[in-house]
Amino acid sequence: MQKPLIAGNWKMNTTIHEGASLVIKLRELIKSIDSVDVVIAPPSTSIHHLNQLIAGSSIQLAGQNVFWKENGAYTGEISAEMLRAIGCSYVIIGHSERRALFGDTDDRVNKKAHAALKAGLKPIICVGETLEEKESNSTLGKVKGQIMRALAGLKTGSLKELTIAYEPIWAIGTGKSATPETAEEVHNSIRELLYEDYDTAAAKKIRIIYGGSVKPDNIDSLMAQPNIDGALVGGASLNAEDFARIVQFESV
Ligand code: PEP
Repeated sequence: MQKPLIAGNWKMNTTIHEGASLVIKLRELIKSIDSVDVVIAPPSTSIHHLNQLIAGSSIQLAGQNVFWKENGAYTGEISAEMLRAIGCSYVIIGHSERRALFGDTDDRVNKKAHAALKAGLKPIICVGETLEEKESNSTLGKVKGQIMRALAGLKTGSLKELTIAYEPIWAIGTGKSATPETAEEVHNSIRELLYEDYDTAAAKKIRIIYGGSVKPDNIDSLMAQPNIDGALVGGASLNAEDFARIVQFESV
């Protein structure tokens, strides 16, 4: 079993100076932690600088997005190799904001996952249902479809590098987290889907993390669930004390 993964998605927040001061505080607060993979995804303008500030700590870096081509006339895009070269080990792919606002389809998510793995980046693939889909009992169908299409063509051997982030869209940035039981039910179904499609040993290595209004006061109960292997944290990752408390969840 891999370590739990706690990842902070800073989204389009923090200048390079603000990011530096956040990382310096965080680094100090979690300096004794080595039982959790701690990842931050700052804006790409800060990654190179922050990579120097995390040297010697257990904090790792993620891109918030990646383009699947290696180079060329793709104005505004960043390749997987470029993210690797400035110190990223992970990349978030298919976040619901990218799907809703920037046209990331399942097919694009799949291409990005292939490109990330090829460059040695670990993809964190986001899936999740809208409130409407939840209310019409379509959560599992939606999430399973997104995962099947995102993972299409990936080799079994690369699954250990993969993380699935289950992020109900209605829970992102709303303060309304899924209950631990509801999240566990979806995570358990995702795990079963992976068992059906891949051999059990390979599927077990995929971390399934939860995202959606994770805060210091709900992380412990979420992490107590057997199939919740970590968290993707938005708003609370912008506060060093809150994120440090989330990283130091109490395992029950
Ligand atoms: C996210 O954006 O991935 C997220 C989970 O945000 P928040 O924690 O703010 O709900």
